[in-house]
Amino acid sequence: MLRFRGPHLRWPTRAPTRRLLSTPPPVTVVEKIIMDGIKATGPISFSTYMQMCLSHPTAGYYMNPKNPIFGSKGDFVTSPEITSLFGELLGVWLMSQWMQGPQLPIRIVELGPGRGTLMQDVVRVVARFGKDKLKSVHLVETSPTLRALQEARLEPEAGKYNCTLGWHDSIGDIAPSAEEYTMVVAHEFFDALPFHTIQKTEQGWQEILIALAESSEETYPRFRYVLSPQASAASTLLGFSSSRFKDMPVGSRIEVSPIAFKTMHAIGELIQGNSTESLGCGLVVDYGADRAFDQSFRAFKKHEIADIFHEPGECDLTVNVDFAYLREAVGDFGPAVPTHGPISQAAFLEGMGLSMRVEAAAQRSEDGGVAIREAAKRLVDPSGMGEEYKVLGIGGHASGAVWPFVPETGA
Ligand code: SAH
Repeated sequence: MLRFRGPHLRWPTRAPTRRLLSTPPPVTVVEKIIMDGIKATGPISFSTYMQMCLSHPTAGYYMNPKNPIFGSKGDFVTSPEITSLFGELLGVWLMSQWMQGPQLPIRIVELGPGRGTLMQDVVRVVARFGKDKLKSVHLVETSPTLRALQEARLEPEAGKYNCTLGWHDSIGDIAPSAEEYTMVVAHEFFDALPFHTIQKTEQGWQEILIALAESSEETYPRFRYVLSPQASAASTLLGFSSSRFKDMPVGSRIEVSPIAFKTMHAIGELIQGNSTESLGCGLVVDYGADRAFDQSFRAFKKHEIADIFHEPGECDLTVNVDFAYLREAVGDFGPAVPTHGPISQAAFLEGMGLSMRVEAAAQRSEDGGVAIREAAKRLVDPSGMGEEYKVLGIGGHASGAVWPFVPETGA
């Protein structure tokens, strides 16, 4: 079985190819800003590079309405866009946690909702099982373009279920509440957060930075990596931010995202809800594993992998998620914010009854279930999405293992 096709997967619908460029593409808006910045003040971190490329206020990948981003005409396809069963099963898990608690009014928080597809499916399940308990939906989204898409899709749903809908720039803008049960969903969000790359040397942890290529006029790509001349306060702190990094040998390189840590800690605060017990639950779904990665940073353009320095601001950038780091970020909440897993997306979806739902949907379909079976197969494909994507559960009331987060056998 081809279990792992290397770190370079987003969901290319064609095999990844590396384009050989005879004529380098024109300098993009973001590229020019980055080049000028490096000329003025020197090499920049991966974090600054990613932030500029994805979130520059007008020319960033997620900010610029010119970028189609999702779907067959865009740069990548995500699970909620493949079938609504994905969001429904996430919603069923969240509701099963809520049902075991005091059944407080519900609010749902989603980080990086994209086109709003996942939230639409989750809301339907929560509203159906929770009757009139769903009170509000909070979307954490920085892109005005995507906010508009989300509003168009979710405003009618909110009206149907009589709940409020609102947007926030950051999860920190949402206050913890002891009167509500908070459900948090983050699908393909953490992989878009800026990170730093650090390398262990004899002198300690030093940062790998991005500099201009030797001769940026003719060379493509126009950037290259350099090792910072010495350890900085930031690189040293990052190197100490997890006990797992302490004994790594000299030469080790890791991608670390302090923003991911901070965001996960904020999720913990919402789930703890100013209480001593868990007042919420959450699911983080993303590609990655329960460990740090060294060189998983990659770019996506039209369903293919591209060089990370290719057409900055016009390609999606993504990095694998270190789920152990996310677990550590909520470690100080103790039993109020337990974590479950991560397990593979295939194990999660199968455990939540995907096959049964597919068969039920197939009975009702006009094509005899061909499309729905195909979609479901894609989500659990062991050589693709099923294994690459992991699901981390957070919160809930059960002591001991929480279904379907049980140790996988034979993995
Ligand atoms: N969850 C969706 C979209 C994933 S793409 C899906 O699976 O289809 C990443 C999403 O995160 C986009 O909505 C993007 O605009 C948003 N995003 C990226 N960085 C962000 C940040 N720093 N703060 C808030 N939203 C961010």
